[in-house]
Amino acid sequence: MAIASQFTAEESVLPLPTIMQAAVYRGINDVRVESVPVPEIRPGELLIRVHTCGVCGTDLKKIATGSHSAPRIFGHEISGMVAAAGGSVQQFKPGDRVVVFHHIPCGNCFYCQRKTFAQCDTYKKVGCTAGFEPSGGGFAEYVRVMDWIVQNGTVRIPDAVSFEEACFVEPVNTCIKGIERLQPCAGETVLVIGQGPIGILLAALAQRAGARVITSDLHGQRLTISKDFGLENSIDASRVDVIQEVRRMTESRGADAAILAVGGNGLIKTALDAVRPGGRVLLFAQTARGEAAIDPAAICVDEKTLLGSYSASVDLQDRSVQFVMGREMNLGRLISHRFPLSQSSEAFDLAAHPQPSSMKIVIQPGNSWPASRPGSRRRNAEGNS
Ligand SMILES: [Zn+2]
Ligand SMILES: [Zn+2]
Repeated sequence: MAIASQFTAEESVLPLPTIMQAAVYRGINDVRVESVPVPEIRPGELLIRVHTCGVCGTDLKKIATGSHSAPRIFGHEISGMVAAAGGSVQQFKPGDRVVVFHHIPCGNCFYCQRKTFAQCDTYKKVGCTAGFEPSGGGFAEYVRVMDWIVQNGTVRIPDAVSFEEACFVEPVNTCIKGIERLQPCAGETVLVIGQGPIGILLAALAQRAGARVITSDLHGQRLTISKDFGLENSIDASRVDVIQEVRRMTESRGADAAILAVGGNGLIKTALDAVRPGGRVLLFAQTARGEAAIDPAAICVDEKTLLGSYSASVDLQDRSVQFVMGREMNLGRLISHRFPLSQSSEAFDLAAHPQPSSMKIVIQPGNSWPASRPGSRRRNAEGNS
């Protein structure tokens, strides 16, 4: 179906272009902003004009390792506005502000019935594309959302919530999943090592679960931001020894649990040493395969537990939407850098080499939207972030 014929009268003053800009992955560490066709949609599908797309660690990993064939257009933390709706789409219309998921399970198959959603064939298919092999497509001006994502993986953004805040739904989901795995209880002390945006989210969620949270980071600027979120007990790891400091704060025992929100394996031992006998350590950022040195007696004799958590869970989708859309945290405060689509390479480079001042990095095709565009009134809400 031709896109132009799907346009409403309201939108027809702003005809859809046929060509758009997109950040195209061309090979290892090679992402180029190119002109590509605006995707065509079919009945049951949506075309979204992307406002903001978060840069995720998994995007960086794909770009740096060549794990996926080229060319592709990545980006899956997508918020934007419906630009066109294919025939038979009832629930959304042009102008609606939405966030879209890129993976949604069928809910009916053998694996879905057993809640092993990641093994569902439908889940494995990527349902959003800006062209080439479907890969998310958020790092483009427009993204095509396929029918099963329109049905079950597209969520309207309330007026009070900015596009920037809305793109946190997926990362928030991964953090809620990690906290579910760790199960911090009221009265427990949880150490969160690393106060980047994900570390702050994990720490805030552990605190909401009733735990006393201690944060640590090498960069004082990050600890300043985490204090803004009510995370008062912080350790500047550039100045003091984290293990000694945690013991001092816990009657010499050590924390009940620790979360490692920094990549690399060097801090696994620190995290294990910082928890008490019987304590547990959640690895949240150790996504690279390899080998790590641990003291086996810490697991056997001291009865400490190593846990891991990765990616999002569809079971937690409603809770993550509620958390973000209910504005339970000022998520915009976690964004340190906003890049226009034309500077995508700079965005990936900074995200891959974080600086003390860098937190969440987003790419915003929507930063060029003229003020008269529908939704621009709400764009001003970005100013509070
Ligand atoms: Zn992500
Ligand atoms: Zn299924």
